[in-house]
Amino acid sequence: MVRVRFAPSPTGFLHIGNARTALFNYLFARKNKGKFILRIEDTDKERSKKEYEIAIIEDLKWLGIEWDEGPDIGGTYGPYRQSERIDIYKDFAEKLLKQGFVYKCYCTKQELEKMRQEAEEKGLRPGYDGRCRNLTKEKISQYEKEGRDFVLRLKVPEEKIEINDLIRGKVVFEGEHLTDFVIMKSDGTPTFNFAVVVDDYLMKITHVIRGEDHLSNTPKHILIFKAIGAEIPQFAHMSMTLGPDRTRLSKRHGATSVRAYREQGYLPEAFFNYISLLGWGTTESKEIFTKEELINEFSIERCHKASAVFDPEKLLWMNSFYIRRTDIERIYQLSIPFLKQAGLIEEPINKEKEEYIKRAISLEQEKIKILKEVPFLIEFFFKEPEYEKENFEKIINPETKKILEEIVVILDGIDNFRKQEIEIKIRDYCKEKGVKTSIVFHPLRFAVSGRTKGPDLFGMIELLGKEKTIERIRKVIM
Ligand code: GLU
Repeated sequence: MVRVRFAPSPTGFLHIGNARTALFNYLFARKNKGKFILRIEDTDKERSKKEYEIAIIEDLKWLGIEWDEGPDIGGTYGPYRQSERIDIYKDFAEKLLKQGFVYKCYCTKQELEKMRQEAEEKGLRPGYDGRCRNLTKEKISQYEKEGRDFVLRLKVPEEKIEINDLIRGKVVFEGEHLTDFVIMKSDGTPTFNFAVVVDDYLMKITHVIRGEDHLSNTPKHILIFKAIGAEIPQFAHMSMTLGPDRTRLSKRHGATSVRAYREQGYLPEAFFNYISLLGWGTTESKEIFTKEELINEFSIERCHKASAVFDPEKLLWMNSFYIRRTDIERIYQLSIPFLKQAGLIEEPINKEKEEYIKRAISLEQEKIKILKEVPFLIEFFFKEPEYEKENFEKIINPETKKILEEIVVILDGIDNFRKQEIEIKIRDYCKEKGVKTSIVFHPLRFAVSGRTKGPDLFGMIELLGKEKTIERIRKVIM
């Protein structure tokens, strides 16, 4: 039975790279009919915040990633929050101490610092020199009497460590690069590496799928797995996610948290689809995948070794693609918060108003890239346009004023104020006068919306209605 986990540290919002780790674990679990576990790694008391845990959970849910066991839903191997598992780590550490796999190290900060400096001066590799490994009974009792704190360190054997990484292939770690490392801190809490391994063991994790940034921790993990007598899971270290300039994705590249994208009005399925392509892909150049397709087609072996490049432009394109395919009811629902925030609408919204908003959005649906743009795109359906002076002077002149005056007469004469009808009448006018349609359409669009670009001119006029349209044109030609 496949069991995988996503183990975020709640020290910030869900980062794109971490969302991808969560997604790949999720897809792998679903594909293999296994279990996907959410574990919160909050042993760093200073940096971990409850609000980040809540936000990470919300954002994962928003993305449509569901877990089978986790802090919010429990499960057979809980608790799923490391801060609630401290006693478990203590028990394991004590056992390892008794068995002789770890030892107490009484070195003070100053001693460790001196050790580091001396190693540097001699050109030796930094790290612990093992001086507390074989302390005499006398020395131990002297330290105890002094009331010194201690940490627990693992006795690192001089051995080569190898893994067969599912993405990177054979990876060899030369044992001598490691020195006896800490597994329990002096305050009785575990180090990150120790907690990860104890949990992966107890939660029966079969595959550890995580970012390549954890590869350097892996030899430590293997030694701990061995010490506790556990079977070693399979590892799959995913390549890093870079920004468009090929440096590690960071704030410099703009928004890097899922939350930030969510707040701009990206659709979860578009985001889900996009991040699935970060360092993964099928042999064809297919890019649009439903969740079900991804589950069916996902395979770890198809993850690329090379870094993935996060391209916000591509994500934007994919989002607009999904928006175009989404029914207006959902786009309407998702746009409401943005419209309210922009002050264009107020609740309660009656049926008639709802229809009006939906028709306005429909007219622009093809153009929407993110929902945050909706208020701007349809603003003039709700507010009187503001005519930019420069454009006004360019577009409105005696000739166009005359045309608009005649258009008012035509519009006024239309009984069935539908876009087809309006279009026919205005095109007839152009023909009659022998003018190019743009000579008429352009000032008309500007007069009606205050814009030089926008949705279908006749659909826009129909929705605004005869009265409003004429009123706006009159204002411009006055
Ligand atoms: N808590 C770690 C992180 O946030 C993940 C550890 C792991 O996957 O082994 O990066």
